[in-house]
Amino acid sequence: MIDLLLRGGTVHDGLGSPGVTADVAVGGGRVVAVGRDLGPARRVLDVTGLYVTPGFVDAHAHSDLVPLMPRPQPFKLFQGVTTEINGNCGYSYAPDATRLEELTGERVPDWTFAEYLAAIEAAGPVNHVATLVGHSTLRGAVAGFRPELRPGELERMRELAAEAFEAGACGLSSGLIYPPGSWADTDELVELARVAHAFGVPYTTHMRDEGSALGRALDEAIEIARRARVRLQVSHCKVAGRRNHGGAGMLLGKLRRAREEGVDVRGDQYPYTAGSTVLAALLPPSALAGGGVRDLLASPAGRARLRAEAGKGGTGAGLWQDTTPEGVLITAHASDSPDGRIVGATLAELAGDGDPWETLCDLVALDPAAQMVIEMMAEEDVVAIMADPLIGIGSDNGPPTGLEHPRTWGCFPRFLGEYVRERGVVGWPEAIRKMTSATADQFGLRGRGWLGPGAYADICVLDPATVGHAGTYAAPDAQPTGIVHVLLEGHVVVESGQFTGERRGRVLRP
Ligand SMILES: [Zn+2]
Repeated sequence: MIDLLLRGGTVHDGLGSPGVTADVAVGGGRVVAVGRDLGPARRVLDVTGLYVTPGFVDAHAHSDLVPLMPRPQPFKLFQGVTTEINGNCGYSYAPDATRLEELTGERVPDWTFAEYLAAIEAAGPVNHVATLVGHSTLRGAVAGFRPELRPGELERMRELAAEAFEAGACGLSSGLIYPPGSWADTDELVELARVAHAFGVPYTTHMRDEGSALGRALDEAIEIARRARVRLQVSHCKVAGRRNHGGAGMLLGKLRRAREEGVDVRGDQYPYTAGSTVLAALLPPSALAGGGVRDLLASPAGRARLRAEAGKGGTGAGLWQDTTPEGVLITAHASDSPDGRIVGATLAELAGDGDPWETLCDLVALDPAAQMVIEMMAEEDVVAIMADPLIGIGSDNGPPTGLEHPRTWGCFPRFLGEYVRERGVVGWPEAIRKMTSATADQFGLRGRGWLGPGAYADICVLDPATVGHAGTYAAPDAQPTGIVHVLLEGHVVVESGQFTGERRGRVLRP
């Protein structure tokens, strides 16, 4: 007998086919049939008028430690997301992330990659998770915050990467604007990407530059993929910095040419014109060399040197030139007072009549792990990138607490409500493909990201008329609208918009 029948919805297969009115039968955690008159079921959910889609796959998540939070966190399930790819931007929390604490602000045990995955498994995620091993983490584990590698250290990084892939890492990530990853040259990344290739997993990259040197950064990412023969995922595709706006066509052209030349490249994107990262990313990455950022910022000469570097723009300059003090919103700061004078204010507001650069240096010196939301993109570029079939959706979320970027709570429903229903940037079948099979295929998640007989019954049921997210930068944590039911391997974990409280997610190993 069928465990569960979803009756009367419009079924999207996640492969880009038009939706069809049909019932979906679920049994033993899998989809067993799609059609009409599928027979009796233990349970029936009437989903007439709703869309039945594969559960969404978040290509770019930072939920690495979320399953360890004391209470289950359904913020991704509420978006229809059933699988997250964690460990992005060069940072995973294993192997041995203890030396990155100053930048991440997170204190974690000295885990091996296998121990990290076991800890996540034991805690029980509420949605499925797969995890990349981070290049910055590997580098930190062998060389800390020392820019140059000593003989044997690259080989040690390769061994640690191989251990991580054996334990189940779903790829290699890099974050080349953040130390210590920013100190790697192209050859170092090729050597590590070759290990990923040997295990059949992709290389994802937060590139060395997303602004004035975006073209060169894309060339480097493509060169790494070509030389290592590895699948490439360009993370959070964007054109940053007002002077560079209008560059989406260049970005997409390079991706397309690379494909024509045999490099298997795709990208992901979040549907917003603002990003979010550590406040220290406004400074040149050299500020964090040797781990002595506080000492450096304590000296007027140090501040002046950084300012000169930042003013040059381009690779190695940090993000200072890509935004304005008005466009920087402080979202987390350890030294904030109980009345919240810092968090929720812009850098321009905090500087007042003073010099915003000095205010920035003061804030980073007080808390090098402080976070910001940063305005740096143009809507026309966001839309052009979104319309391209090579681009999937990834939230780039932070932890679901405090004043985070609204993408943490609303990325997927916002894409569907704002850009698909209201503006028609892409049609529904294509939008759903971008959020499902496009990403599941890239990360080797077999049986997920599509809906048909034999697929895992990770399913989202949504109302196309109401799906959306009302969260704002000032009040980001609203629950999305229109995500009605969510299933994980046949278990209903969100029913009529309510989370059941169960931790039904798995740790996925490709
Ligand atoms: Zn990133």
